[in-house]
Amino acid sequence: MSSFYRDLKKAELHLHLEGSLEASTIHEMHPNISKEEVAAKYAEKGFSAFLESYKWVSVLLETPDHYALATRRLLGQLQTENVEYVELTLSVGVILWKQQNVAAIFDAVNKEARKSAIPCFWIFDFIRHFDLDHAMRVAELAAERARDGVVGFGCGGDEARGSALTFVPAFQLAQRAGLRLAPHAGETSNAQSVWDALEVGADRIGHGIRAVEDPALLRRLRQDGIPLEVCISSNVATGAVEHLLCHPLRRIADAGVSVILNTDDPAMFGTTLSEEYERAEQLGFSRDELRLLAETSFQFGFNKQVGSPQ
Ligand SMILES: [Zn+2]
Repeated sequence: MSSFYRDLKKAELHLHLEGSLEASTIHEMHPNISKEEVAAKYAEKGFSAFLESYKWVSVLLETPDHYALATRRLLGQLQTENVEYVELTLSVGVILWKQQNVAAIFDAVNKEARKSAIPCFWIFDFIRHFDLDHAMRVAELAAERARDGVVGFGCGGDEARGSALTFVPAFQLAQRAGLRLAPHAGETSNAQSVWDALEVGADRIGHGIRAVEDPALLRRLRQDGIPLEVCISSNVATGAVEHLLCHPLRRIADAGVSVILNTDDPAMFGTTLSEEYERAEQLGFSRDELRLLAETSFQFGFNKQVGSPQ
């Protein structure tokens, strides 16, 4: 890896803690699980296989200590990447599904975040193919921690089985608590899903790449200054795009829409934020453009007290 990509000071805004678990960290938590077993799980391709692997790895996080270890290892890795601001997504919906204690887990991960040299904030997300009650519960938990490191609220899961519009009361509850909204949309579903996310008040869109199919939507995103959190390797691994070189990042940026490069689930997709910048170069971005992308990534952070580094 050329040091150009690593040396760029970067913000990472779309990164699921659960998807960051390296085989070595899993082996540390569960010595009976071999690194080969983890590698085999992560190598499965396609969106349904990805959701299954995500569930599998989430279940391995059995205690607040496991979550703390995951956070520690991830933040350590991000430091070597010159990441200088991060918002980590915590799948609170999955924690509830596992019937674990959200408060104890959040206290454990937030303690690790506070110890890190990187300013680290949290986005709580719910599972969109569960019901509204589930989303409301996650929104309440996010609202309770709005002054304690949580800056955003979003949703993940199977987009085709849950429009953002179904969850308007949950998004409103989060907004009333001062949280910003970053739902996944337009990843595996279509441009309409991004329109729905805008209707619920999204401040950023997780993925949003299918917006490329709708010129009116691209115009709207540009006019409203809503950025897309683009995760190139993730899109290739889940099959959201057929091949790296088919990725619409270039076309979206050329339409004047703001983009931020992210890893999504770096361990599962075998990537790093530096490598995502390298992929963007393969898609036709010049080094000056990459510098600009890195610089502007800070502007879209939800914690406005944290500005771009000097
Ligand atoms: Zn994601």
